[in-house]
Amino acid sequence: MINLVLLGPPGSGKGTQARILMSRLGLAQLSTGDMLREAQASGSELGRQVSEIIARGDLVSDDIVIGLIAERVSDSSGAGFIFDGFPRTLAQADALGELLNRISHPLNAVVEIRVDADALVERISGRFTCGSCGEVYHKSNKPPAQEGVCDICGSSDMRHRDDDNETSLRQRLTEYYQKTSPLIGYYYAKGLLRDVDGLGEVESVAENIRKALRL
Ligand code: AMP
Repeated sequence: MINLVLLGPPGSGKGTQARILMSRLGLAQLSTGDMLREAQASGSELGRQVSEIIARGDLVSDDIVIGLIAERVSDSSGAGFIFDGFPRTLAQADALGELLNRISHPLNAVVEIRVDADALVERISGRFTCGSCGEVYHKSNKPPAQEGVCDICGSSDMRHRDDDNETSLRQRLTEYYQKTSPLIGYYYAKGLLRDVDGLGEVESVAENIRKALRL
């Protein structure tokens, strides 16, 4: 089993790279952002609870996201997990360590995807997602072959995230630098950190990750 964390600010390409690793290594992508958006779309109590928090760009409480991950990490029969957008706080990182110890498959590596703040704003303002299969696109860096149609599944249900606007993005970046970036030191001290240049084409970043992981 291989368990990886993708760490990086919003717009650094975690979701895109997680999907590449998922198809290349057969790992399961666990994105707390996707889980929370699914809860919102289904109109569940949890979805209602988190809606305003996500729209503002704040972090959802540790208890909620740890609960979502705990439900998925009890099974150790698969090839492994890619944690995308989790952990985002030190408390979440400690909880993840405990959950993985319980299944006797600790983290193998934490990939820090580095992208400077100007590039993040450009990436986020141009991105959209297929509402059907979740493939991520960008209006200039990664447009679909046919405008408005997903290359992967053919759906024309392209969506722009509500929290991909300038005000929420500024708050998401503040949350990242205040609460999530301390995890860089946390994982460095455990000998797990691999930093990767996240600028450039999707394929070249994927290659940087492959080299950093020696996989
Ligand atoms: P993402 O899709 O990873 O950018 O997440 C979108 C939003 O969901 C974030 O801005 C947070 O409001 C919330 N969220 C996702 N993952 C977490 C997490 N691990 N801890 C707290 N909030 C989260």
